[in-house]
Amino acid sequence: MVKETKLYDLLGVAPTATEQELKKAYKVNALKHHPDKNANNPESEEKFKEISTAYEVLSDPQKRAVYDQYGEAGLEGGAGGGGMAAEDLFAQFFGGGGGGLGGMFGGMQNRGPPKARTIHHTHKVSLEDVYKGKVSKLALQRSIVCPKCSGVGGKEGSVRRCAGCDGHGVKTMMRQMGPMIQRFQTMCPDCNGEGEIIKEKDRCKQCHGKKTVVDRKVLHVHVDRGVRSGTKIEFRGDGDQAPGIQAGDVVFEIEEKPHPRFTRKEDDLFYKCELDLVTALAGGTIYIEHLDERWLSVDILPGEAIAPGTVKQLRGQGMPSPRHHDMGNMFVSFNVRFPEKNWTEDPAQFEALRQILPSPALEAIPPADAMTEPVSLEDVDSSRAQRSFGGGPMDEDDDDAPPGGERVQCASQ
Ligand SMILES: [Zn+2]
Ligand SMILES: [Zn+2]
Repeated sequence: MVKETKLYDLLGVAPTATEQELKKAYKVNALKHHPDKNANNPESEEKFKEISTAYEVLSDPQKRAVYDQYGEAGLEGGAGGGGMAAEDLFAQFFGGGGGGLGGMFGGMQNRGPPKARTIHHTHKVSLEDVYKGKVSKLALQRSIVCPKCSGVGGKEGSVRRCAGCDGHGVKTMMRQMGPMIQRFQTMCPDCNGEGEIIKEKDRCKQCHGKKTVVDRKVLHVHVDRGVRSGTKIEFRGDGDQAPGIQAGDVVFEIEEKPHPRFTRKEDDLFYKCELDLVTALAGGTIYIEHLDERWLSVDILPGEAIAPGTVKQLRGQGMPSPRHHDMGNMFVSFNVRFPEKNWTEDPAQFEALRQILPSPALEAIPPADAMTEPVSLEDVDSSRAQRSFGGGPMDEDDDDAPPGGERVQCASQ
């Protein structure tokens, strides 16, 4: 019945061997002849390669069919050439190494029933929501098994296996090229690659024979207090469905939106405060709008003399930590706002200031015999000033354009 038995003989099985028997025979023989076990024995190494090639051919139903019908001649360019390296095949069976394997042995790699692809979505949340915590209701568009036909696609008994491809969805064609037989696959034109055929009139009216329909599901995503950007919230089995496979998952990744007042580093908040010169010197009260409904009232003590760039902290006013909910701190960086140019022209006020403020510390005073030259200060436009002293203006582009074509929408805040 088969043309040759050489590959079967190499594995020590009959041409009628089942897939299981082939697999077992390969494992036993590959272990026996593996080069690691047979150092300095080139014969064994050769044998190991032959066994691997034999198994590679016979474990592929299509290659095996070609071999059975045409012998090794039919495989030229089909198996011997572009085949998997013996070591890779071995590694796949016994673990370790062997990366980058193609889909050739896909069936062996996947454990458990196949599953629909996971739907990933980035869920953008405001810092206020992270501070307080909330539940977002998100509407998800997904495929579900058609409820009308239960995923059959049509009336009972109307689904026929495609005769053209025997239900595989692909057809294997063979072409004689001189001494070689070239084998190639095409999508079955009779069934458009579906592997089955339903007559137009028998098709399910709801899914039109597609077996699935689009469904809208609302998921409640818990945004926990203090959650960090990059946290993933998983909904197992709430994703796409299709007949014969496990329902897929939905994964939401939390992304914190930039905030107009605060920046966050882990559990701490950073706030830039503009302070008037008079408050910095004489004291007063500043108010900071927090992330809940509170406004923090902060006393600047008279005489504290807050210089530009001073950083202070407000203990416990940062973010809640994700698990324990103890609070981080708020760091306040002060910029001191000076009065406008020519804020007064009254010489008496300058004199009063001189009386009040400490005397200037003139550190760089020229020696008595130095030549001094009077020069005058000119205004410089701010961009030029920034450039000359390094550091550019901090442009923060808030790209908050609504995402197009997304499958998840915010149903309610
Ligand atoms: Zn077909
Ligand atoms: Zn249907």
